[in-house]
Amino acid sequence: MLKKTVKDIELKDKRVFTRVDFNVPRSQDGSISDDTKIRAALPTINYLLLHGAAVILASHLGRPKGRVQENLRLGAVAKRLEEQLDQKVVYVGAVTGPEVTRAAKELQPGQVMLLENVRFHPGETKNDPELAKAYAALADIFVSDAFGTAHRAHASNVGIAAYLPAVAGFLMEKEITNLSRILHSPQKPVVAIVGGSKTADKIGVLTKFLQLADTILLGGGMANTFLAAKAFQLGKSLVEKDQLQQAAAIMETAEKHGVKLCLPVDVTVAFDLHDATGARNVSVGAVPADMMVVDIGEETRKLFAAHIREAGTVVWNGPLGVFETDAFAHGTIAIAHAVADSGAFSVIGGGDVVAAVEKAGVAEKISHLSTGGGATLEFWQGKELPGIAVIQDL
Ligand code: ADP
Ligand code: MG
Repeated sequence: MLKKTVKDIELKDKRVFTRVDFNVPRSQDGSISDDTKIRAALPTINYLLLHGAAVILASHLGRPKGRVQENLRLGAVAKRLEEQLDQKVVYVGAVTGPEVTRAAKELQPGQVMLLENVRFHPGETKNDPELAKAYAALADIFVSDAFGTAHRAHASNVGIAAYLPAVAGFLMEKEITNLSRILHSPQKPVVAIVGGSKTADKIGVLTKFLQLADTILLGGGMANTFLAAKAFQLGKSLVEKDQLQQAAAIMETAEKHGVKLCLPVDVTVAFDLHDATGARNVSVGAVPADMMVVDIGEETRKLFAAHIREAGTVVWNGPLGVFETDAFAHGTIAIAHAVADSGAFSVIGGGDVVAAVEKAGVAEKISHLSTGGGATLEFWQGKELPGIAVIQDL
């Protein structure tokens, strides 16, 4: 990697402001339902502690829009982190102010402190320089380890770097290294899989994959739009009508560049996204007018899996069906198994597809599961992410 990491800077007796991603999924009652993100930050935190730093952690949680929202406080996160680290985590329940300043000053090497949800402060998402300065005043070094917010220029992940030396944490390093492998001389053949529902958001990444991939497999709501552009009748399916021309243009470019773009040949149809009553497998030319496409079909799963078996590299964004409904998760799960069983270097990114792959129980066999949603898509498009740009070059 061409960026400095925590290994390239003297940490002993330094206060280190570390931006992490503790934006954990929560249950209805507000308790943490999945602490993967907290565990993912431990290698960096432990390294900093082991090397004699005092660690000040900052994260956002949810979308409080610049005001204090009681159910989005980080108290429960601080507690879970205490359990994981097996040591006290100082938590004063404020983003800035005299209490925060005092606690940071008193923090000794080997100790940890967690600020309150940074998005409680209206200056955070505005990248307010005064707030960035206030963060910087707490510490000597800035460690950037929240890849998931790297596509946003906020005070705690970008603004602060104007006032402190900035280096990457291990999670950030892992993301940059693995995601870059897709962009720079990936092992051929490269198979890209794109699904999900937000076609408009993904046209950019698809366009990039047209340059990188030998084969592109389309599923999910995305494929519906492409099928509709080829004049298939899709009944009540989700079709993004304003994207039909884009879809047609992408199919044309694929043909010109010799990229094999595979659409489903059959699909699971149902009357409702959340109810499998009456669901069945039909060919793409036979979607009933009163039904909707909810998954890739059985034949398509086999065809897609055959491409994946031959792949040197697999890159995947977006689930191939409405995986939240168990009966419509079969296509995504079958493809997850195909990717896991292939010998390919595999990178999967996107909030929903990563959740689907975890549901399939094959996460361990994927080379890299990206922690970013929007950040991953932007990285794959070759954009410079502000949260990465501020990290010092090696
Ligand atoms: P990711 O988070 O992996 O980038 P998206 O957010 O683009 O993926 O899309 C995920 C959503 O797409 C899921 O909620 C899923 O139910 C939906 N989806 C997948 N296939 C279909 C379909 N055929 N019709 C409607 N929605 C779909
Ligand atoms: Mg999503």
